[in-house]
Amino acid sequence: MSEVYFANMRCAPNRGMLVKLSELCRRVGLKDIIEERDFVAIKTSFSEPGGTAYIPVIYIRTMVEEVKKVGGRPFVSDSNTLYVGGRAHALRHLQTAAANGFTMETTGAPIIIADGLRGHDFVEVEIEGRILNKVKIASTFYQSDAFVVMSHLTGHEFMGYGGAIKNVGMGMASRGGKQQMHSDIKPAVNPERCTACGKCIEWCPAGAISIVGKGKEKYAKIDRSLCIGCGECTVMCFKAAIQVRLTGVLENAQKKVVEYCMGALKGKENKVAFFNFLINVTPDCDCWNYNDARAVEDIGILASRDMVSIEQASLDLLNERSGKDLFRSIYPAVDCQKQVDYAAEMGLGSKEYELIGID
Ligand code: SF4
Ligand code: SF4
Repeated sequence: MSEVYFANMRCAPNRGMLVKLSELCRRVGLKDIIEERDFVAIKTSFSEPGGTAYIPVIYIRTMVEEVKKVGGRPFVSDSNTLYVGGRAHALRHLQTAAANGFTMETTGAPIIIADGLRGHDFVEVEIEGRILNKVKIASTFYQSDAFVVMSHLTGHEFMGYGGAIKNVGMGMASRGGKQQMHSDIKPAVNPERCTACGKCIEWCPAGAISIVGKGKEKYAKIDRSLCIGCGECTVMCFKAAIQVRLTGVLENAQKKVVEYCMGALKGKENKVAFFNFLINVTPDCDCWNYNDARAVEDIGILASRDMVSIEQASLDLLNERSGKDLFRSIYPAVDCQKQVDYAAEMGLGSKEYELIGID
């Protein structure tokens, strides 16, 4: 059984959320995972241009200060995305980070894009997964001494939800690694629903979609040999004309993300702390250029040294507060619990936890 510390949203004079975050750092034992002069990667997401629900920079700045207090050398980091958008290479990524409020001046630490200019800087790490035996971890994360993983909980169209597992597994992989995780996902267009508007073509990073047919019979077609399975088109199509044959495929993708966590955390098992933000929990993830209204009331911040425990506790709290299986109600085809179950099965932590309120 692992400890999960919980700061709820209730605040009082001299006891705001930033004070509570500092207390969570003490309770989770930041000083025990960080040694003097350790390079400490604070892993978060800078979100896309237009996104508004990501973890606000003031929380990141507080974490930077806490890491410095215990002797670490912090930097704030993420890796490039697979899809076309505001974070597909390091230059654009840094511009997006700055536009969303993340700079050296605002965070108090350097910002580093972990897999380099084009997303090709990685180290191959051997693992004993059931699907993969090697994973491509962004070199900056590989070279870090310790991690502080700050994850914003959201829904996710293919994983069911995004939390610490996705932040580490997908977020610490190079672009090639991300492609490996998405490789089973091949959507197809339903011609009867498609209006040939072309929106999906604009967003496809692989040039895999074209309009075929004539006159009123026109529709989009996906070339499966070119498709890299990023899933952008499925969300961009507001006619719901693009679907993925889900059964089995998504479970495989969920498992690969977990196996990427095994590679990212290998050798650093005692050098990681996880912080899950159950604030502004939106149906879609922070990889989109908008955020819909929150799906549940704000709950608070969790902290743990156990990745599986913090994920299980987060899902339990979200389900309890919403009165339903929250992410299943948004994405009925995906069972997000399977992500957590597989992480436990692969030895990344325990589903048994003790929730300790810090108020
Ligand atoms: S976005 Fe949807 S409706 Fe528009 S072309 Fe693509 S599949 Fe068809
Ligand atoms: S067809 Fe869809 S899933 Fe495939 S690469 Fe293009 S946007 Fe991504």
